[in-house]
Amino acid sequence: MNQKTFTIAVLGGDGIGPECTSATVEVLKQIETTLDGVRFEFEEHLVGVGEYLRSGIALPDSTFDACKNSDAVLLGAMGIPSVRYPDGTEIAPQLELRERLQLYGGVRPIELFHANDTPLKNYDTGQIDFVLVRESTEGLFSGRDATFSPDANEATNVMRITRHGADRVCRLAFEVARKRNKKKHVTLIDKANVLSAMVFMREVFDEVAKDYPDCTSDHCYVDAAALFMVRDPKRFDVMVTENMFGDILSDLAAGLVGGMGMAPSGDIGVDAAVFQPSHGSAPDIAGQGIANPIATMLSAAMMLEWFEHDETLRAAKTLRAAISKVLADPNNRTPDMGGKMKTRQITQSVIDALES
Ligand code: ATP
Repeated sequence: MNQKTFTIAVLGGDGIGPECTSATVEVLKQIETTLDGVRFEFEEHLVGVGEYLRSGIALPDSTFDACKNSDAVLLGAMGIPSVRYPDGTEIAPQLELRERLQLYGGVRPIELFHANDTPLKNYDTGQIDFVLVRESTEGLFSGRDATFSPDANEATNVMRITRHGADRVCRLAFEVARKRNKKKHVTLIDKANVLSAMVFMREVFDEVAKDYPDCTSDHCYVDAAALFMVRDPKRFDVMVTENMFGDILSDLAAGLVGGMGMAPSGDIGVDAAVFQPSHGSAPDIAGQGIANPIATMLSAAMMLEWFEHDETLRAAKTLRAAISKVLADPNNRTPDMGGKMKTRQITQSVIDALES
């Protein structure tokens, strides 16, 4: 068999980012020992607040080029509230990375691993299971650089939806529904009763839906979607929405299955992909060894699937099975989920489950 090497750029970033990525790399190295003809080459790169304070540049060109030239990027988290650019905004090279690599679709699977992890009544393992696809290059975030003078009486941000941007993210959502092969149902989350940009996105979505006759589709206003996610999350299979709505609903979705430490994400582009947990750098717990690395590990499983190699697809299944096995015992939890385990201990449990 030909040897295949996947180069993975590892960007630990800030706060708990490096703790979660190093735990995940350890797990990936264990998996690598079981693969036939596949190797991983991990390359660590500097990025984020530390780099900004050192050199004045949060995303150095060398790091960007390495991300562009690697097979995938595994990213921790970036930015901390106490370090900001002169205009008051946080250091957020992940947004720059998304825009420059055209990572247009944030794919965020939400899965319940144990009944104890959800605040909802009567939901058991596997009964919350949907994917949120967030447009990541335009929408309300596209106007984030808008400046205003100190004596201004108003400030405006614009929600920008382009045909190209809406078309590709809607297509991605239908592709995700096909690959999941569960309900094969895609829901557009919009606000088409109020915002004309959302009417436009709905038109594009309906056009794209025609190309997926094996899938069903519908629309839901974002406010109603927030209610339904809490009252009846089973109604959703794949949801697709604009950038800001997706940002907010991702956190709500994570809250249904145990919090940010359980929410993985894959930022998918045309030629590149970045895999990272949905959570931020959590500076309040950084350095204490108690960060929950599961979201990063689940993001790594998404990365293995994205490689679309028989061996890495098998590895993704093995990794998911190991995580499920560990989480089947409700005592195996870090403090964010009410448990007592340290990052090190839960990582070792996943490695032990992989070995068994
Ligand atoms: P961002 O704006 O970058 O998404 P945020 O400020 O919204 O970040 P997060 O850092 O994602 O917030 O998380 C909020 C809080 O949730 C953290 O301060 C931390 O207490 C907790 N948290 C998030 N992720 C984890 C994790 N992996 N393990 C443990 N606790 C976490």
